[in-house]
Amino acid sequence: MKIRLFRSLSLLLACALPFATHAAEVEKPDVVLHGELAGKDHQTYRTLPFDVPAGTTRITVQFDYSGREEKTAVDLGLLGPDGFRGQDGFRGWSGGTRKLFTVSATDATPSYLPGAIRPGRWQLLLGIPNIRKESHSNYTANIWFGHASDPAWEPAVLNPPLRKEAGWYRGDLHMHTAHSDGGCKNQSGERVPCPLFFTVQAAAQRGLDFIAITDHNTVSHANAMRELQPYFDQLLLIPGREVTTFTGHANLFGTTALVDFRVGSKEVPDWNALLKAIAPLHGVISINHAIRPSGEVCMGCGWTAKPPVDMSLVQAVEAVNGSDIGTPISGLPFWESQLAKGYRLTAIGGSDNHEAFQHEARIGTNPTGVPATVVYARELSMPAILDGIRAGHVFIDTEGSRDRVLELSGEADGAKASMGDALRVPANGTASFDVHVAHAKGASLAVLLDGKPFAPAVAAQVDTDDLHRKFSWNSDGKAHWLRVEVRDAAGKALLVGNPIYLNPTR
Ligand SMILES: [Zn+2]
Ligand SMILES: [Zn+2]
Repeated sequence: MKIRLFRSLSLLLACALPFATHAAEVEKPDVVLHGELAGKDHQTYRTLPFDVPAGTTRITVQFDYSGREEKTAVDLGLLGPDGFRGQDGFRGWSGGTRKLFTVSATDATPSYLPGAIRPGRWQLLLGIPNIRKESHSNYTANIWFGHASDPAWEPAVLNPPLRKEAGWYRGDLHMHTAHSDGGCKNQSGERVPCPLFFTVQAAAQRGLDFIAITDHNTVSHANAMRELQPYFDQLLLIPGREVTTFTGHANLFGTTALVDFRVGSKEVPDWNALLKAIAPLHGVISINHAIRPSGEVCMGCGWTAKPPVDMSLVQAVEAVNGSDIGTPISGLPFWESQLAKGYRLTAIGGSDNHEAFQHEARIGTNPTGVPATVVYARELSMPAILDGIRAGHVFIDTEGSRDRVLELSGEADGAKASMGDALRVPANGTASFDVHVAHAKGASLAVLLDGKPFAPAVAAQVDTDDLHRKFSWNSDGKAHWLRVEVRDAAGKALLVGNPIYLNPTR
């Protein structure tokens, strides 16, 4: 009972937070500075002091002024408490090129320097290269302060949605770059740490809508992502990390907060301690490649957490890892064993790409976007994609096609559900289902109840590019999970759907 309450509360919170952000459009700034410039300010500098409270981890500034039509120009910079005197006093200068910038310990808008945010008196530095004698200009600076547990998409002004319409969005949730062990050949043909740009470009070339960069135990890639996002305006970049321990790996998406990953140490005795520590960070955590071997073959790769993990603290499982390509899909049995225990964990996929240039693929490296995780989201934004994953509105496209679709909807007593949702069907009641498969002609459809082929068989050959299949289920009033898969002639899953949970107990 306790667990159920906790889960529903966390789901509620997960849904409520981003909607609140959207309703407010932009959070109210913590500080607003207004002022006026006149002809006498021509070719002078001016500082605008503001106090940064203790506990601040990010400063975001939006700046604008009037008079551009009269050729008034105002340049912008930022000084920390030591101003030009101290080592870390000068925090950057963007001249007249930016109306918005952010500075934090992990990342900063280009022109600005990431680094610790010390509390005290900071200053916006204005330079006025031109204002005519008779001109006047009003300026406004909106300033937001961030905090350690803020999700990576705050303040919202930094992360406008890339697309505003609801739909299926395709992405890759697992990849490595120069910020951990991702590599590619340099100009001389030697393998070197591969710049993040190439990974992002590879994802854009595959037509993906989003990617998460998941370097091992670090978020140093967040700074490079800050530079790349405006250029890749059709590819959402989600900061992640692969929490990499001696007893398993798990991807954490949507936060750049500090996480002590030392599972098994005095500070972090076990995985449950780590999962409790990250719970307030608004991220999504997913257990990776759970049944890989551990030991000297692949150190810490298998999931061997002891004591057993409280799975109500986990949101997802990497059911398909890129290394599964060409082999039986290794993550599915682990995922289904969690479903069988009543946990509602979303199956996702990730390439685990370590090599941005696909033509140089080596063992252990897989093309970007294979598999793809396809998420139904209310818009293309970080909070919406992560909410879609939490809700289970997800299928995995194991070959990373651009157009395959798998949809499952159910209805009972007027209540409707789609993949990831719960459907209540009292004993002797009937639920009806509709499966939609697009662009998978030649494959076959399998319907699974509690992981076993559903009887009476409703499996079907997918003989059209737009298959709809209806069937019904008579309830025994107990908890079950029903999901659909599309398989190739050899029986290998091409599309893996998340379940509709029938009468779930959690
Ligand atoms: Zn791993
Ligand atoms: Zn990895």
